[in-house]
Amino acid sequence: MKIVLVNPRGFCAGVRMAIDVVDQVLELIPGEALYVYHEIVHNRHIVERFIDRGVRFVESLDEVPEGSIVIFSAHGIPPSLRDQAQQRNLTAIDATCPLVTKVHSRAIRYARQGYQILLIGHKNHQEVIGTMGEAPGQTQVVESPECIKSLKIDDPEKLVYLTQTTLSTDDAGVIIDALKEAFPKIKAPPTEDICYATTNRQEAVRRVAPQCDLMIVVGSRNSSNSVRLMEIGENVGTRSVLIDDVSELDPSWYPTGNERIMLTAGASAPEDLVSEICKHFVTEHDASLHLADISEESVEFGLPLTLKRLMEEHGVDHRDRRITIEAPTITADQYGDTPVPLTISGGLS
Ligand code: SF4
Repeated sequence: MKIVLVNPRGFCAGVRMAIDVVDQVLELIPGEALYVYHEIVHNRHIVERFIDRGVRFVESLDEVPEGSIVIFSAHGIPPSLRDQAQQRNLTAIDATCPLVTKVHSRAIRYARQGYQILLIGHKNHQEVIGTMGEAPGQTQVVESPECIKSLKIDDPEKLVYLTQTTLSTDDAGVIIDALKEAFPKIKAPPTEDICYATTNRQEAVRRVAPQCDLMIVVGSRNSSNSVRLMEIGENVGTRSVLIDDVSELDPSWYPTGNERIMLTAGASAPEDLVSEICKHFVTEHDASLHLADISEESVEFGLPLTLKRLMEEHGVDHRDRRITIEAPTITADQYGDTPVPLTISGGLS
């Protein structure tokens, strides 16, 4: 059995930042109650680990006692929630990914210029709820090409589309083409809204999955980008499964024991869950590990302003603090084997 560990996988810079924010605040206020609005990132293990450290996750600010500290999740929030936090005298720390904030800024700008906004995405996803909240009267969500006929358009020459950051680039492309056909004057955003991490992880699946018998995506069912990876794997003809951790592996997925299995992870899945799966395959199925490096990522975010203020209040120097994301280091100790690099361009061997 060969395990093809693909790069990039797992944590993106936005998720890394959101987790660091919660870690930092826990350090700043030991023993005090800390609230997080919505799951900080869509991963069951991350959320459970924070609950074990005393963090309380809420779906309404009414659940947060006045005067408490609340962190807004990586997916962003509608501005009405920020107002509500202020009214309840909460200290709000905003862990929204800067790439989601960029889409919010575009929504605000286009709404001010009098555009109607067609937001391509999943209407119940937290990110879409947040972006829509910036201009609720001027925004309509487009989930599929079929939605287009029920849109209420005032002026087809004053239209712009934006997209959720974690969509499948293929699916979004189909909807964008349909919008352009229906409204030839529709404006596109200046650059792609689908983020670098989503694009890179999807591209790795498109390149490697067709050369494997099975693709395993590590991630939670409510993680949009993880589900998209699984769907893309299926679309390129490779059986694909999404699992939260090693306990969900099903041996019927690899009946011969000679399979080539691609392993990747959604942007909110921690690497220790990936390494546990590798270790399982190496120790239980005598698998060898192979690295498929498709692209390198070097993205760096600054700390959120609201966290910097809280750090200053607690006398903590934040001047050199940045959030960086790098490929994980693979050791035989953690992964069960020393991986062998693979060249993808001519096909895997
Ligand atoms: S998936 Fe993209 S937009 Fe979402 S948190 Fe990560 S970097 Fe930000």
